Amino acid sequence: MVEREIRHHGICTWQPASACEGCPLSGRLKCRFDWGALLHFIALFFGFAIPAIIGAIQGGYGWYLLGWAAYSLIFFELWEGRILCSHCPYYAEDGRVLHCIANYGLFKVWRFHPEPMSKAEKAQLWVGLSILMGFPFPFLLLGRQFAWALVSLWGAGLFFWTLRRYTCSQCVNFSCPLNTVPQELVDEYLRRNPVMGKAWGKAV
Ligand code: SF4
Ligand code: SF4
Repeated sequence: MVEREIRHHGICTWQPASACEGCPLSGRLKCRFDWGALLHFIALFFGFAIPAIIGAIQGGYGWYLLGWAAYSLIFFELWEGRILCSHCPYYAEDGRVLHCIANYGLFKVWRFHPEPMSKAEKAQLWVGLSILMGFPFPFLLLGRQFAWALVSLWGAGLFFWTLRRYTCSQCVNFSCPLNTVPQELVDEYLRRNPVMGKAWGKAV
């Protein structure tokens, strides 16, 4: 029993599914890994990225996409990994590979940080996301690929709108600035996960 509590920092998201029986949060949070949620996220992101890639190549700026790829790798692995993902219950799983509903398969560079994101980390997230999503647009405009720029912009808007409505409203990374989970559900999850509850300064 003690061994099970220590594994995965005791986070319920990574305990056997039988531990969820009777949990009032079951079905109300995206608190267990789900392939459907992951594929939904990937499809939404591609709806923004693919038009941007096509437009950059057609405009003669395809090689600049290597800079976007390099930035994305650094952002997801190191920067976002530390400021956002290291605070997420999905990051608490034992092992070095992330199995979550968005950044599945990334190498986990950092340790799990059960405390909420700081204000500085939230500000950095906005900066990092702005660079990530804005990177291709100057090249689309320089290449006069206005139609692809519009399609990509529409894809980016759809990505954030859908994400916020269907994922952020149930995501277990509660301190993310996009998160909209009701406070009573957050409190119940923290109550069920004392490592996080303590780090959040909640009585457990
Ligand atoms: S909050 Fe934890 S115990 Fe409850 S359903 Fe989600 S993973 Fe299971
Ligand atoms: S669900 Fe989101 S915040 Fe959590 S580890 Fe995955 S990408 Fe990071």
